[in-house]
Amino acid sequence: MVKGLSDFIRKAREERREFLYEYEAKEVLRYAGLCTTKQIVSKNVEEAVKAAEEIGYPIVLKIASPQVLHKSEAGGVLLNIKDSEGVRSGYTRILNNVKSKLPEAEIKGVLVQEMAPESTEVIIGAARDTQFGPTVMFGVGGIFTEVIKDVSFRVAPITVKEANEMIGEIKASKILEGVRGLPKADIQAISTIIVKVSELMLDHPDIEAIDLNPVLIYEDGAVIVDARFVLEEKKKPVREHPPVGELKPLLDPSSVAVIGASTNPEKIGHKILRNIVDAGFKGKVYPINPRGGEILGLKAYQSVLDIPGEVEMAVVIVPANLVPSVIEECTRKGVKGAVIISSGFRDVGPNGAELEKQFLDMARKGNLRIIGPNCQGVSNPRNGFCATWPIVDAVGNVAIISQSGSIALEIPTFLAANHSGYSKSIALGNKADVDEADLISLLAEDGETEVIAVYTEGMEDGRRLMEAIRKASSSKPVLVLKGGKTEAGRRAVLAHTGAMAGSREVFEAAVKQSGGLCREDLEELCDAAKTFSTLNIPKGNRLLVVTSSGGAGILSSDACEEAGLALAKVSESTIERLKEALPDYCILSNPLDLTGNAYSNPSMYRDALDIIIEDRGVDMILVVFGDPIPDAYDVICEQVKKAREYKIPLVANYIGGADIQEAEIDGLQKRGVPVFPTPKRAIRALSQLWNYHKQVTRLNGG
Ligand code: ADP
Ligand code: MG
Repeated sequence: MVKGLSDFIRKAREERREFLYEYEAKEVLRYAGLCTTKQIVSKNVEEAVKAAEEIGYPIVLKIASPQVLHKSEAGGVLLNIKDSEGVRSGYTRILNNVKSKLPEAEIKGVLVQEMAPESTEVIIGAARDTQFGPTVMFGVGGIFTEVIKDVSFRVAPITVKEANEMIGEIKASKILEGVRGLPKADIQAISTIIVKVSELMLDHPDIEAIDLNPVLIYEDGAVIVDARFVLEEKKKPVREHPPVGELKPLLDPSSVAVIGASTNPEKIGHKILRNIVDAGFKGKVYPINPRGGEILGLKAYQSVLDIPGEVEMAVVIVPANLVPSVIEECTRKGVKGAVIISSGFRDVGPNGAELEKQFLDMARKGNLRIIGPNCQGVSNPRNGFCATWPIVDAVGNVAIISQSGSIALEIPTFLAANHSGYSKSIALGNKADVDEADLISLLAEDGETEVIAVYTEGMEDGRRLMEAIRKASSSKPVLVLKGGKTEAGRRAVLAHTGAMAGSREVFEAAVKQSGGLCREDLEELCDAAKTFSTLNIPKGNRLLVVTSSGGAGILSSDACEEAGLALAKVSESTIERLKEALPDYCILSNPLDLTGNAYSNPSMYRDALDIIIEDRGVDMILVVFGDPIPDAYDVICEQVKKAREYKIPLVANYIGGADIQEAEIDGLQKRGVPVFPTPKRAIRALSQLWNYHKQVTRLNGG
């Protein structure tokens, strides 16, 4: 505990104050080794004059009152006071200002403070995010932070290196580098404060938020001139999570009971059973129906307890009020996992939530793990375990984890249409038990999964999510799409930074910090999943564009820089070789423009690619087929293989192809060339491969 902090907190609690005064907060920061302005609290004019003399002119006067949150708004800050006369008149003025603006404000005194020389102002803040806990924010002061929201976030603990990244990440970071005659800022001094704030938040759960606004930053050093600590109200209990090892039966069971199986083909209870049978599930299937009999040629049992052999998992499709007793029976039978499709729980309000808690308690006692309730099931196309509706038949290497059922089906549908496929798809629904973090950890170890795509609307415990992403990212990319906003902590609004906590920005910063890749929308998530499922990770970010369309070439160059890629510079010897191989009208730069003549002479693509792939300055390739170029896939077939041997990711954009376009795209994708409808989408997808390379390097300490 930093010296003085516990006393200040105790005193604030006694006085029912939700925050520390500026002078208290700054005292704590000084003890923590940070530089603040010299300060003395005065109770009357004479004390103020004495204090000013002790500190040395010029000085600043500030109001100290529990009711005044924003001092300058209440006329409670007077700057640059140069002598004792100024202190006397200022003292009276400040009291009058505050009394007229906030008549009820109790005045605890006036803070006399050293005046820090004018300079660039930055803001460093911290808040407890509802999902990720202590999170630190950085921005350049004034309108940049408030209006433009040009800020960066990291989840604590923060290393010096991460703090430096935060500073470099904001758009206004150029101001700190000293543009237009501004002094170059002491970046080290800022990162020291960021790291310290992160430590304070971690070490002191009593602090809900910290606002250092502003910090004045100089060529040599930084001074905190205003500080606010907001105190935490009470702590939320954290839900316990059993080990991930017990999850396997949920996705790859050897036997399954379908509880609520129905003879009526219109009912979900029938469709799911039929899908499991139709998808060729290799294990045992037991329909459960109170009427017994036979469904789809299988003997139906009245209860799981009547099944003679072992049952590893259950799919539950019965009315909500029956779910607790069904789960209780499952635990008695020794069932290891259940996917609860039924809705009518937390999704419908407090009574439903109570029912959800009932079955969860039973499941915990009986070591049974649950996916759902209120979910659209799970699908493992490799072993034909398709406990969902409908079936998407496309075995591949992308695993999908989605809070939404439709998205859990849309991504496999998209992949199937693009000649790619999926390994597992899990719809999470209410997440009573199993959540994204559990499944990411499980799929990190899954030999059939090489890419993990996640759609989530947020998590209770973001730190578990970060840990899981960190673990998985070192061996496979984790792509994350966040939907919706989460609510900021109520009290966090007492501090400036708090208003930004719980936001999508924090979520994305946390995912990135853990090595994951955030995508902006469903289209980007699908595009990235498709790209990672087929292509190698490149060694660099130098892109070569081969095109027959000048326009698409220009659009590609435009998209390149924005996506963080560079246009490759082709070597002299490559140019020489291209000159020999291609007709004179080709434009031998990057984009390499084969011109509209490629329409009648498509073999130019083959000749160009053959040479380019061997250039060491090229890390990835985009091939643009503009116009209806026939049999494109046959023409470049060998070069696609060659690019793969050279570990150069190659994608295509096929445009203006009229009536043959669809068939051409299909042909290319069948041969492992991901095709995108626009150059921009192609380049954005490629940039994710490069970003992943950077993330892995960073995770490994590079
Ligand atoms: P509040 O944020 O509560 O309105 P501050 O203490 O941040 O009050 O003061 C308002 C502004 O006055 C600051 O943003 C800063 O520009 C300036 N200021 C405050 N204290 C000092 C100081 N000690 N030295 C120099 N400038 C100061
Ligand atoms: Mg301030």
